[in-house]
Amino acid sequence: MIGPMTTVHPSLQREASGAIVELPAQLAGDALIDGRSPLAERYLIDWGRDRRGSARFIVRPGSVEDVQAFVRWCSQSGVAIVVQGGNTGLAGGAIPDSSDCAVLSLERLNRIRCVDPLDFTLQADAGAVLQDVKDAAEASDMIFPLALGAQGSCTIGGNVATNAGGINVLRYGMTRDLVLGLETVLPDGTLWSGMNGLRKDNRGYSLKQLMISSEGTLGVVTGVEVRLSPRPTQVETAYVGLGSFRQACELFRMARHFCSDLLSAFEVIGEECLSLAHLIDPNLRSPLTQECPVHAIVELACGPGIDAGGLLETMLARALETDLIKDGVVAQSRSQAAAFWAIREGLVEGQARRGFHVRTDLSVRLSQVPKLIEQARACIVQGWAGHP
Ligand SMILES: Cc1cc2nc3c(=O)[nH]c(=O)nc-3n(C[C@H](O)[C@H](O)[C@H](O)COP(=O)(O)OP(=O)(O)OC[C@H]3O[C@@H](n4cnc5c(N)ncnc54)[C@H](O)[C@@H]3O)c2cc1C
Repeated sequence: MIGPMTTVHPSLQREASGAIVELPAQLAGDALIDGRSPLAERYLIDWGRDRRGSARFIVRPGSVEDVQAFVRWCSQSGVAIVVQGGNTGLAGGAIPDSSDCAVLSLERLNRIRCVDPLDFTLQADAGAVLQDVKDAAEASDMIFPLALGAQGSCTIGGNVATNAGGINVLRYGMTRDLVLGLETVLPDGTLWSGMNGLRKDNRGYSLKQLMISSEGTLGVVTGVEVRLSPRPTQVETAYVGLGSFRQACELFRMARHFCSDLLSAFEVIGEECLSLAHLIDPNLRSPLTQECPVHAIVELACGPGIDAGGLLETMLARALETDLIKDGVVAQSRSQAAAFWAIREGLVEGQARRGFHVRTDLSVRLSQVPKLIEQARACIVQGWAGHP
């Protein structure tokens, strides 16, 4: 949230019609939604539907200049702003918590500005939906590797503001590692632009890095320049069953040694979590032939000239021989691989569908993951024994 949580300036009055007057003229009309209108509903409820807020009004500017005008007006009028992208953050950060504040939605600032196949870069408005950014990169035979369940709704600006991770962090890093430049409206309405596309930039402080992960507290991101990667021509995906989380860590170590940087994803799922995916689609079943307490999805991606499938199968055969894994299936088609990933993606949606859930976003050293799970399980049993 930008600015103090003060009451709305007395000059912000509602007309009898409910419209809000004295905003900059270009922000009137359908760019503006009264906070009491039914149309405001979707800006006030969190994606998980477990948080509800209120706001005086919602503004949806269609240009960077309009964002500047609005932020300047709010700064002069003492109106606090809650910036909102796709509202998928799951932590309530985009939900306004006072009927005095304004929601600044970036949903209309959603153009892909340009794709540069020589520099391997893409520039987009901050409100561009992540899936549209990914599609634009693929249309030029490149990829933008950030991938998360919410990619059809979350925005690239929201990804920057939360430093989103997703399933490809292992190989490509978090959003912070993918951003080359930012354009930001500062709290007084000034535009700061650092969209220079430089990979080597050692000039002084990095305002860009300060903005990434600042969740709208330092300014409104209006434009993003990201680095793209060559599109892998081969993607090999396996779904394996293991006896414990400790073994999953061992398998990860083995996969890194065996497959080096070709390893693009490694996701671990406790078997008891599969019931969440079933809530989303009862056909989502583990492809394993036996029950295993821990499941993992292992993915390799690379260009031509490498036998990625052979590499993955050799690695899994070694893991089977040494009893590191109990069972495993290598996807024979894209749709089978997509079915593996649908299980992983169904987990988050399943939480929301089931209702009560404990939100977590944990970061520990890899070696500490088994211990973390053990301790978290004990806490849950103790603290939420009555819940499903
Ligand atoms: C099914 C599902 C799966 C998910 N999986 C992952 C995952 O694997 N990894 C992960 O990291 N996250 C994940 N998320 C969380 C979420 O999708 C990401 O954090 C995403 O980056 C949020 O983007 P958004 O546009 O929806 O932001 P919002 O939810 O609208 O906003 C999030 C925060 O950023 C601020 N903000 C938004 N846009 C801007 C802007 N332009 N300028 C300044 N501040 C801004 C908001 O004020 C708020 O504080 C998932 C969410 C869902 C629903």
